[in-house]
Parts: sequence; C-alpha cells; structure tokens
Amino acid sequence: MSEHEDYRRAEIVVDLGAIRRNVEKLCDAVAAGSDGPAVMVVVKADGYGHGLFGSARAARAGGATWLGVADRDEALDLREEGDTGRMLAWLGMPGEDYGPLIEADVDVAAYSTQQLEEIVEGATATGKVARVHLKVDTGLSRGGAPLSTWKGLVDAAAKAEKAGHVKVAGIWSHFACSDEPEHASNDLQEEAFEAALEVADKAGLEPEVRHLANSAAALLRPSSWYDLVRFGIAAYGLSPAPHVTNIDHLELEPAMTVHAKAALTKDLAIGDAVSYGHTFTAERPMRVALVPLGYGDGIPRHASSLGPVQIRGHRGRILGRVCMDQFVAEAPRGTVAGDEVVLFGPGTNGEPTAQEWAEACGTISYEIVTRMGGSANRVAKRWTDDDGSLV
Ligand SMILES: *Cc1c(COP(=O)(O)O)cnc(C)c1O
Repeated sequence: MSEHEDYRRAEIVVDLGAIRRNVEKLCDAVAAGSDGPAVMVVVKADGYGHGLFGSARAARAGGATWLGVADRDEALDLREEGDTGRMLAWLGMPGEDYGPLIEADVDVAAYSTQQLEEIVEGATATGKVARVHLKVDTGLSRGGAPLSTWKGLVDAAAKAEKAGHVKVAGIWSHFACSDEPEHASNDLQEEAFEAALEVADKAGLEPEVRHLANSAAALLRPSSWYDLVRFGIAAYGLSPAPHVTNIDHLELEPAMTVHAKAALTKDLAIGDAVSYGHTFTAERPMRVALVPLGYGDGIPRHASSLGPVQIRGHRGRILGRVCMDQFVAEAPRGTVAGDEVVLFGPGTNGEPTAQEWAEACGTISYEIVTRMGGSANRVAKRWTDDDGSLV
C-alpha cells in the first residue's frame, strides 16, 4: 500500500526538498539576489512543526540568507547545531540576559528603551557590539514601540550606537492584515513605517535592513519589500492567503504529510452511534476505521465529524468526536486493519491538505501543522529529501 511501511502507529513526514524548492521559488518571486530584497525564512516554533534543524538547513539551501526565530533558545539551538548565517531573534523577555545571543552573533530586537538598555548591558558584558533591530508598532498593537515612544527609542539607540555598544542593523515592523490585500490598514501601516524610518533617518541611523513583509505581504505587496522579507508559512508550502488565487502559480509544495495505520476496522449498522457524546449516528451500513491519533497528538477536537482523510484512494471524514488518542473515520469497503490513513499531505494524490483541515476546523493552516505531533510527542517524525543531502 504505502511506500513507507516502517512506522508502527502514525508518522509525520517532512519533505525537506519541498521546503528547499519552496524557498528557491520564493527567492525568485521577490528577485532576491538581483534587485529584490534579501530573504529570511522564519523557523520559529520548531519550524512551524516541521523540525527546527531540518527546516533551517532546507531554508539555507534554498537561498535564505537570514533565519528568523521568536525565542532566544531557538536561536542558540541553531547556533549549537552549526548554523552560522545571519539570524534574528525577536521575542525578548523583561530582564533578559542578551549576552549569550550577542556572543553567538545573533541579531536581537528592541521594542522599548528598557529592552535596549538590557541589550547594552549584554554588549558590555561580552565586549561585543550588539546588532539591534528596532521594531516600530505601525498598527498591529502587538510587539514594537508605538509611534508615541518611537522617537525616544530611536534617540536612545543612536546614543548607544555612538557609545559603541550597539549597531542598529535593522528597523522593522509587522502587518496585521497582509492576508487581505484590499484591507485599508495595509496602506496605513506602510505610511506609518515610512514616517518611522524618517524619524530614524533624522537621528542619523543607517540601518542595514528595513523590513516589514511576512509571506502574504512579500507575495502580494512589492511596495512592502524594502531590504528584507520574512517568509514563514509559504516556505512550508502553504498559502498565507488561501483565498487569493494569484499566489497559485508559484506551485508551492506543502512539505508535511501525516499518516497513520488503521488500528482496527469494523462495520456499523444503521443506528449505530459513534464516539463520545454519540454526535454521529450511521444512517446506512458503513465500514469505519479506528485511527490511532487524537488531540494528544495535535489533532484538533474541532475536527470532530469534519476532518477529511483518505483511505485506499477514497476520501472520507472523521465520524463523531476526536478523542485523546484516537478517532473513527469513514472507510471504503474492503478496508482492513493496518491500511494506511492519510490525514493530509501535498494533495498531489488526491489526499486532503493542511489547508482543508484548517477550513474544516475553523482555523488557519499555520495552526494545523504547528500543533501536529502534540505535546505528548509520541508520533514518529521523519525527514526526507529528494537527494538525501538535507536529512
Ligand atoms: C511568524 C512571523 C513571520 C512569518 O509570517 P508568515 O505569515 O508565516 O509568513 C514574519 N514576521 C514575524 C514578526 C513573525 O512573527
């Protein structure tokens, strides 16, 4: 049946070749290397669930000159594993010891003067110049200095730069609605970013990279490119704006496949009700498969009676509630225990995609892939590549 019979219960397969090819396509799409911006691939949260190290290697091989992470430890893990390229870590905590990041040559982000002071402390302690990316909040109201405190942060950074503690390597911000290209806030955020850049310019700052765009903005708003774009979800082959069809021509390849073996099959009679709460009742005689994955493995409980699966080339769906370790799925006649059940994959063999799962569950593909595997960590993960070089 399956090409890979070497797993016992269920498996998450990550195609690193797909990530590499996606990044190559994304670099081409923004003309990186010629007139276009440099490319960062964001590998936070274990590479959106695809594995930190494999994703990072594939991203570098595809042409990413930068990697982006949220947490300090993600950056330090990458350095320990041998990555030596440009890297930005952007989610510092109050009282953070920036020494190890500065020592490891990781660029850091400052959202406030307090954070900048902590970065200066780290620089002083290590005797190195910290490379800082000042973040301005242009309308997301999440990280970054609001425009009211921006000038204060810029002036403090200019002073710290003169004193030799930091180099302002970047000025950056993040969109709220880039997946809705027509949303009025996109233009407003770009205007606010321009105003923030002017304040920095007047203070004498000369950032190496100004950056604003995530995947959706990079693909849909060339005006937001500046010197660097930050690709996350698109690198993993999923659309950042699923309802915008002019991304389709890129033919990005979803890199993650999740499959399992049916633990058991049985036939239901009319009137048989399924799983906790009996939320599904068979209205016809039907074959079902017991799939050994549940919310303990990252399957959303919101997928109850909605999540799509493929068995023996046939599409079916989850029947009744998703439990902690298992769910029941519609199966074609003839299905036997041990048959492969594909939850999602690239979609090239008619199997569902993570995007379909997201729509079924009322969420976004980002959440589906990032949570897959779950905190119990009992689903085997395997990394493949077309030529084996990245595994
Ligand atoms: C996660 C993240 C990105 C990547 O976003 P995608 O929509 O996945 O491309 C870019 N920038 C920041 C600040 C992020 O937190």
